[in-house]
Amino acid sequence: MKDDVFVVVGAGQAGIQVCNSLRNSGFAGQLILVGDEPILPYQRPPLSKSFLLGEIDEQRLFFRPQTHFEKQSIEPLLRTKVIAIDRLAKTVSLEGGRTLNYTKLALTTGTRVRRLDCEGADNAQVHYIRSLDDSIALKNKLAEVERVAIIGGGFVGLEVAAVTRKLGKDVTVYEAEERLMGRVVSAMLSEFYFDLHRKNGVSLHMGDRIDRVKVCDNTLEIYANKQHSLDCDIIVAGIGAIANDEIALEAGLNCDRGIIVDNRCLTSDPDVVAAGDCTVHYNQFAGKPVRLESVQNAVDQAKVAASTMLGGEAVYDQVPWFWSDQYDAKLQIAGINAGYDKYLTAGRPEDNKFSIFYFKDDSLIGADSINDPSSHMAVRKIMTTKIASMVQIQENLDDLRSFAQQ
Ligand SMILES: Cc1cc2nc3c(=O)[nH]c(=O)nc-3n(C[C@H](O)[C@H](O)[C@H](O)COP(=O)(O)OP(=O)(O)OC[C@H]3O[C@@H](n4cnc5c(N)ncnc54)[C@H](O)[C@@H]3O)c2cc1C
Repeated sequence: MKDDVFVVVGAGQAGIQVCNSLRNSGFAGQLILVGDEPILPYQRPPLSKSFLLGEIDEQRLFFRPQTHFEKQSIEPLLRTKVIAIDRLAKTVSLEGGRTLNYTKLALTTGTRVRRLDCEGADNAQVHYIRSLDDSIALKNKLAEVERVAIIGGGFVGLEVAAVTRKLGKDVTVYEAEERLMGRVVSAMLSEFYFDLHRKNGVSLHMGDRIDRVKVCDNTLEIYANKQHSLDCDIIVAGIGAIANDEIALEAGLNCDRGIIVDNRCLTSDPDVVAAGDCTVHYNQFAGKPVRLESVQNAVDQAKVAASTMLGGEAVYDQVPWFWSDQYDAKLQIAGINAGYDKYLTAGRPEDNKFSIFYFKDDSLIGADSINDPSSHMAVRKIMTTKIASMVQIQENLDDLRSFAQQ
């Protein structure tokens, strides 16, 4: 093992976790973390929340200081893009001509933003948030402008809407579908968020697809469904992400809009693992292959990937969870509610504290909780131990909360 060289491609949430888990498990070989961004790995969730709002500074975003990498003998190769993998030679090629040999390879390349592709969308006043630089650019711009249009009523778009309203801007959200966050949350929760944003002064356009952006002096004219709809100063687009799976695909690894991994985070090559947003895995809680974009998935898969690199037997079977902060509503999602046939609620939306529990064939499959962390924790526990039935929970919803405290 001492002569082994483990290379991790992608210095984000999953990448640093793979490195830390390898060292914590006693890996003593060479460990190289290659990342195309110019800085050490940092957290992305605050980029559309507290960092954008100015509540925390840049230093708080970094997972670990430079000294951690030195102490742990993790070699970060920053500003360095891996452009190809040669699985026969067991090398990766770096932009600029260098190659690295590997004994085992981990791919933690994450995603990139989906870009607006309508006429006029390649304008500099159209912002996206994926990297720290993106968030800084948006933050600086927000200090100069008043009218903000947000395209996409998903998590990132709505978090930016909440921040920009707190900053006192005029905010308009365009969502092409009929409800907010429709891909992930139930209709009831979409309605709660619609009301929450409306109450906070956001103008919401549902079912409106942007088809043109026209620049007139310093103003952006937005056209939706072929009609001139709004004048604004900047646009923030949050319309989804695309897996960075190209180097895997070109190297012949099985991919399907993400790098396909098994429950040990192994790709179709026994010497290559993958973890985080760039992967697709069969998820027992979803009952189908999924690509999850969450800190939980990145961290838990990375731990399993590290174990697999070391010949361990760990498997990935964690209950998916996620959070989003908008105004004074902290949403925590446990499980995957797709295909639910019944639901129960505890608490009331008007009290800004409630949970919705989702069931399929009388089994608990997930819950969305607003300012109700104990229900969220309980559901995660219940789903992990698979003890819940609809009948048990219906008898006494409070059992959920007391269970969480056990
Ligand atoms: C604005 C925003 C808000 C979010 N909020 C939440 C939230 O509230 N809760 C939550 O659970 N999740 C949230 N997420 C999602 C969460 O941040 C991601 O799930 C997590 O960062 C995934 O980690 P990762 O390591 O897979 O990918 P990333 O953190 O994206 O890291 C991948 C890294 O690989 C690099 N890379 C890609 N290709 C190459 C290459 N060929 N060579 C070298 N380097 C490469 C990328 O530049 C990047 O630095 C949010 C994400 C964003 C952008």
